[in-house]
Amino acid sequence: MVAWFSFPDAGGGAQGSSGGSGSLADGAQGSSRSSGALMRPPECGLTLRSAGPMKPVRDSQNRARVFESLGIAPESVYSPKQVHSRDVIAIDLPDLADEIPECDGVLTVNPDLVPCVSVADCMPVWLYDPESGCFGVLHSGWRGTGIVRQAIELAACEWNADVTDFRVILGPHIRSCCYTVDEERAVYFSKEFGPSCVALDPALQEAGFSWPYRLSLAEANRILCALLGIPAEHICDTGLCTACDERFGSNRREGADSFTHMAAFIRRL
Ligand SMILES: [Zn+2]
Repeated sequence: MVAWFSFPDAGGGAQGSSGGSGSLADGAQGSSRSSGALMRPPECGLTLRSAGPMKPVRDSQNRARVFESLGIAPESVYSPKQVHSRDVIAIDLPDLADEIPECDGVLTVNPDLVPCVSVADCMPVWLYDPESGCFGVLHSGWRGTGIVRQAIELAACEWNADVTDFRVILGPHIRSCCYTVDEERAVYFSKEFGPSCVALDPALQEAGFSWPYRLSLAEANRILCALLGIPAEHICDTGLCTACDERFGSNRREGADSFTHMAAFIRRL
């Protein structure tokens, strides 16, 4: 029902030093969580299609059922109103009377809060800094690619976090095997993040397909993280594609009217 992912252990632990490896554990309670140091890193979860629809507000009953089954109080889950932006919010003690902000990422140092975004082909990016204690999750689709920069800058401003301490997980999303785009979007990514993000597929071009470029959001984010100064061994790419792996909700595979919103969340134990 939920896939769990572990932050790379940059201290030389079990996950090695080559960028880590996302571990996906099926079942309600994952078994491949980080084996903790003194202070355990937060746990990163992504509800699978089998958990049902998890869109905030619309699916609040199902969300409550799923979170409660994980031992998470639904009222501790903090989900922004997502707008495909690069805006991130830093939350310590949310005032429930406040209107839910429009943004696409949530960071906190409060262990009682569970930052959460919903995704279905867009990339969830989990962040954690063991030094400042800051942790959170971002919704990074193609429009939002670059949101990691805003998150790192916000954490530096709010909690004096140092970019080199961050651990990052690039979560399941639609990958270049399934993600074809038109020339305009390909050129944008090539200019903004680097030419290695996009590749023209000759077969698609020959067939006259109007979206013949394959786009790698993971590569764009790896380039961005390197530019920001996050060490490569702190970055873990789960390597999973939501569009061709049917365990996941996917806008492109399931269709825009009936796709399964998945909840990507992060919690401290
Ligand atoms: Zn795929």
